[in-house]
Amino acid sequence: MSKSFFIDTTLCTACRGCQVACKQWHDLPGEKTSNRGSYENPEDLSFQTYKLVRFNEKIINNKLEWLFFPEQCRHCTEPPCRDTASDPTAIFKDPATGAVIFTANTKNLDADEIIESCPYNIPRKAKDGTLAKCDMCLDRVQNGQEPACVKTCPSGAMHFGDSKEMLDLANQRLKKVKKEFPKARLLDSDMVQTIYLTAHDPGFYAKDAVASIGNRSKQPVFLSRKQVLEKMVSPFIKAIKEFV
Ligand code: SF4
Ligand code: SF4
Ligand code: SF4
Repeated sequence: MSKSFFIDTTLCTACRGCQVACKQWHDLPGEKTSNRGSYENPEDLSFQTYKLVRFNEKIINNKLEWLFFPEQCRHCTEPPCRDTASDPTAIFKDPATGAVIFTANTKNLDADEIIESCPYNIPRKAKDGTLAKCDMCLDRVQNGQEPACVKTCPSGAMHFGDSKEMLDLANQRLKKVKKEFPKARLLDSDMVQTIYLTAHDPGFYAKDAVASIGNRSKQPVFLSRKQVLEKMVSPFIKAIKEFV
């Protein structure tokens, strides 16, 4: 049965336990960082950092809000990275869970093309071109365990389970949160298996919080972010056209 994350950013305290647990479980080293005037550390996702808690400060309704966004792969239901690779030995979707998995064979792909295809700007490459990202802790999940990041979260911000249950839970939380924050929403919940709930404009949390934000294509590529987005939403547009 397909599995999903539900990440309720309204409950995230930015403790970064999930970020550390991810590194511990995958035996990934820490990275050399510098003070950039933010607690966000390191500066970005990398080949060795699959999960990063993003920090942003915004003035909203004359009040300073500190917004946290534990960023990771969305495990898209129809992943553009997989479709761009067209090599199931390099990128595939686990049939049981829907986890999108990158293997060592990503080294043989055009890494920049794959990175560009991701509407959330998630994959990162090593010097030899091998790509890496969150793997849903598939080894844990296949053995009946929660992903390391979910297991460690102390605030109740992270959840993991059957996709339908996670979507139901996300919608229940959204209903409650909307009472205090009318602009609260679920991000691309019909296209991903990592569902975020944000209280404010998603663009305040991360550049690529939703697929429609952050088209930063600088050069012609096989699939641009815009094309990917069109590809992702086309079934819904078709359905709407058929309906009207
Ligand atoms: Fe890291 Fe596993 Fe969480 Fe993905 S699911 S962010 S690999 S700990
Ligand atoms: Fe692939 Fe990006 Fe979707 Fe993850 S978020 S499955 S890397 S397209
Ligand atoms: Fe937020 Fe939970 Fe991650 Fe801590 S462990 S940063 S509360 S999501």
